[in-house]
Amino acid sequence: MSHPASDSTLKSFLPVSEHGHFPIQNLPYGIFVRKNASQQSPAIGVAIGDFILDLAVLRQNGFFETPHLKGQDVFSRSSLNAFMALGRPAWREARSIITRLLRIDEPALRDRYDLRAQALLPMADAQLHLPVEIGDYTDFYASREHATNVGIMFRGKENALMPNWLHLPVGYHGRASSVVLSGSQVRRPQGQSLPDGASAPVFGRSRQLDFELEVGCLVGTGNALAQPIPIAEAEKHVFGVVLVNDWSARDFQRWEYQPLGPFLSKNFITSISPWVVPMDALEPFRIAGPQQSPDPLPYLRHQQAGHFDIRLQVSLQSSKMASPQILCRTSTRYLYWSFAQQVAHHTVTGCNLRTGDLLASGTISGPTEGSYGSLLELAWRGTKPIKLNSGEQRTFLEDGDTVSMTGWCQGEGYRVGFGEVVGTVLPANPQ
Ligand code: CA
Repeated sequence: MSHPASDSTLKSFLPVSEHGHFPIQNLPYGIFVRKNASQQSPAIGVAIGDFILDLAVLRQNGFFETPHLKGQDVFSRSSLNAFMALGRPAWREARSIITRLLRIDEPALRDRYDLRAQALLPMADAQLHLPVEIGDYTDFYASREHATNVGIMFRGKENALMPNWLHLPVGYHGRASSVVLSGSQVRRPQGQSLPDGASAPVFGRSRQLDFELEVGCLVGTGNALAQPIPIAEAEKHVFGVVLVNDWSARDFQRWEYQPLGPFLSKNFITSISPWVVPMDALEPFRIAGPQQSPDPLPYLRHQQAGHFDIRLQVSLQSSKMASPQILCRTSTRYLYWSFAQQVAHHTVTGCNLRTGDLLASGTISGPTEGSYGSLLELAWRGTKPIKLNSGEQRTFLEDGDTVSMTGWCQGEGYRVGFGEVVGTVLPANPQ
């Protein structure tokens, strides 16, 4: 039996255009509050077309009386965590019920106008919140093209890829407290850097503020301490995927990153998109990733294709521009290390993942200049300024710049979309 998510003929009674991000094949989860309600109680919603389906209302109306959801009060919450912790059988029951209720040929919701009035609200009437309470945030470095480009710029061509890079998914433990929802403002950070040619560092506003185009897996169910997750089980632990902009201060990074890796250059803010796209919605877009050579060690070897083709795009709009300009087009197909390999590697020591952990991919760059996922690479460390349609140039971000990232999987006549993650740069605090 094929999974409903792969059925391109499936249609909802709610209209969704061919390029809309939220058709019935997607059904991503988020947290919302009704803007005009007397009681501002958060709930889990599912995006469908231009509407949000309120799962708390569906539960009150007895639609979730299935083996793994019955008696579970997980939808009237301010985060997805309680629902995520129920595990994949519960996620699949919910997805199957919601898919059925939204189908064009199913009257249970379609023909009950009283229920529709309660359970469906226009997106414009909702305030979205950070979908997940993130416990730990890990940032990988899984794109070979990105790692090679940065290596060439920071260390020279001969030492571009470190000797370990083709043997393990390099990563570091990031900072969860500063992960924010799309739309949050981005205050330019201050810190130390070593100007070119100087012998002592200076303190001040970052002059090389950058974006990093990434996607992030949100862990649904974790593992017990000292119980690694085998690669074949890894995806079952992932609840879904969001877009991530891992804002970075390149001048701080270059000065601080050796010997232990980035610290303050990455900890000031990380933005994520509000809608969590379930793994089951990505299933039709599974592909084999790049050929891995040398063969990874056995604990990192896939039994099946482990990559997904999520098309990605970054746009920039300065305060002088009338509309955004696309700077980069790429895809998660270029990631060298898959989500499953990242999970298997992360836990192989026995490290325990927990519900709500965010595992970001690292900057995703493709093989060509227009497919690089950071300004550092697009403007090649300031040596190839980018021309904007306003006549301005960019090597790094200026105050007032708005960066917007979007992504989607392209199906036959429909898109499984991720919405967007957006942020505007504000001037640094006065010194
Ligand atoms: Ca990063």
